Amino acid sequence: MAGSVRNSLREGLVIAHLGQGLAVEESPGEILLCHTRRRLGFATVGDRVLWEPYEGNQGRVVKILPRRSVLTRPGHNETIRPVAANLDQIFVVVAPEPEPDYLLVDQYLAACEHRDINARIIFNKADLLASRQVADDLLADYRRIDYSYFVISVKKEEGLAELREELIDRCSMLVGQSGVGKSSLTNALLPDKQLLTRSLSEKTSLGRHTTTTATLYHLPDGGDLIDSPGVSIFGLAEMSIRDLAAGFREFRPWILRCQFNDCRHINDKGCAVRDAAEADMLPHARYERYLKLIEKLPPVQKP
Ligand code: GDP
Ligand code: ZN
Repeated sequence: MAGSVRNSLREGLVIAHLGQGLAVEESPGEILLCHTRRRLGFATVGDRVLWEPYEGNQGRVVKILPRRSVLTRPGHNETIRPVAANLDQIFVVVAPEPEPDYLLVDQYLAACEHRDINARIIFNKADLLASRQVADDLLADYRRIDYSYFVISVKKEEGLAELREELIDRCSMLVGQSGVGKSSLTNALLPDKQLLTRSLSEKTSLGRHTTTTATLYHLPDGGDLIDSPGVSIFGLAEMSIRDLAAGFREFRPWILRCQFNDCRHINDKGCAVRDAAEADMLPHARYERYLKLIEKLPPVQKP
């Protein structure tokens, strides 16, 4: 029946990137190792692919299906590598300790705006706060520009039910500084994580796969969580100054009103964005961080 193999393209979901190939899931629990070829482009966790059977219980990816979103980071030799595909939302996790790095928060938020991924904020370790008001005050600038946030304590198991609701039927990822509680939260959301990781290794016969690569897990109530412990920085690759400015959602009405062509909205007198920041029509601290992020953009700019 060699002929039928040729026509037996199957669809699958990439759930992990392994040194030797991709772990592709055909249906929940049905996982196999698939090889892939460079000329197809880089498949990544979250990608839907077409594959065909190939040697024993392995497969070969023949096509990466169109993505609804993709996150990228710089790779070797100035290549751009995908980090995760088809994400619906990203949760930027902050905590009272370590103190929030708002520059990093804004970088994540701008990258998500650029990629059309819904970004939301989680304030973890609420148990360390004197009152919830402290979290509200720290996040006031974000509330003002309509970013929703969840105040939770993984330790006290507070606020988790509300968060779980938001994960149902969506593909999500947690990002944030080290130490804010991402792995603690992941473990709370995925009680079977270790078991799932072990079965993934067994099914792809690769022994333990490295925990530094991203892995997609199905959540118990539906929806997926991409766990990417190794990926702390993403975002500014492939973004121009114009993209960055538009990634600050509250700048947009002012960008439209800016009288200058190709304005970087830095310090030109008469720049509508700068004037709005000076007049506190938009959060001034965010504008300051926009100026800092410009410095972190890759050197080559698109016009
Ligand atoms: P990650 O680096 O973001 O993955 O953070 P971890 O999950 O490793 O957590 C860092 C530290 O914060 C650990 O010591 C956790 O026990 C602690 N932690 C996590 N969640 C909470 C919380 O809700 N409250 C408190 N007080 N500590 C927490
Ligand atoms: Zn301007």
